[in-house]
Amino acid sequence: MSLIKTESIVLKQFDLGETDKIITFFTKEHGKIRAVAKKARSSKNNKISASVLPFCYNHITVYKTKSLDRLNNIESIYRFENLRNNLEKMAYSSYFAEMVEKAGMEYHPNPDLFSLLLNTFYKIERSKQGELEKINIVFRLLFLLYLGLKPTINYCYECGKKYKTLDIQYFDVKEGGLICSKCVQTKNYKIDKLLQNEMDLIKRIYRMRLKALDEIEIKSELIKKLDKLIDDFSVYHLDFELKSKEFLQIILGFDKN
Ligand SMILES: [Zn+2]
Repeated sequence: MSLIKTESIVLKQFDLGETDKIITFFTKEHGKIRAVAKKARSSKNNKISASVLPFCYNHITVYKTKSLDRLNNIESIYRFENLRNNLEKMAYSSYFAEMVEKAGMEYHPNPDLFSLLLNTFYKIERSKQGELEKINIVFRLLFLLYLGLKPTINYCYECGKKYKTLDIQYFDVKEGGLICSKCVQTKNYKIDKLLQNEMDLIKRIYRMRLKALDEIEIKSELIKKLDKLIDDFSVYHLDFELKSKEFLQIILGFDKN
């Protein structure tokens, strides 16, 4: 049995028996960890029960065992209450947390992904009306990057030549990126046509990384197109479905037509 101390974000929790909970944490140094929080359901234990709510940021100590790990101690750093009190913010935060929960592997650290989720939660917390759609674009592009699934955007996916600046850029979701104007004629690609400013925006987000959460502006007419492109790309390249996506679409009044 070994003892682990780390920073963590609560991704989800569910009840175990009368008094306990199982908490899924995303930790800075150890990736995803699932641990039993003893007596976390008891009202006498407010310190624990308030710190294991989704999105809470804590210092934790966990006993690693051969069966289920056990939460030994928890010290709150920040509870992100605002993310649970606002329906739209909660819907986005749940969506991002579930993405990390599905993609994160137990005891496989991904500190960049940890920083992305944490910084995104801080950004959502202080976000103003209309900013969440932008955060949604930046988060998902960087999420792909930190999972090693960044689209090919500087070179032609097929021939490997540096991509020339063109008015129209050919993007194939299944191939995973841009196809040059020569190669595009050689096969039956399923192409999304992107304008130069749309591709420039994607490139800028990848250059700025976490700073893009604060510093980038995305015009509302670009949001819808980028949102669909990233969605198609993620559905194809990530092997999981998200329950929270439907919830988010309901909250946003998403029109399925
Ligand atoms: Zn090519």
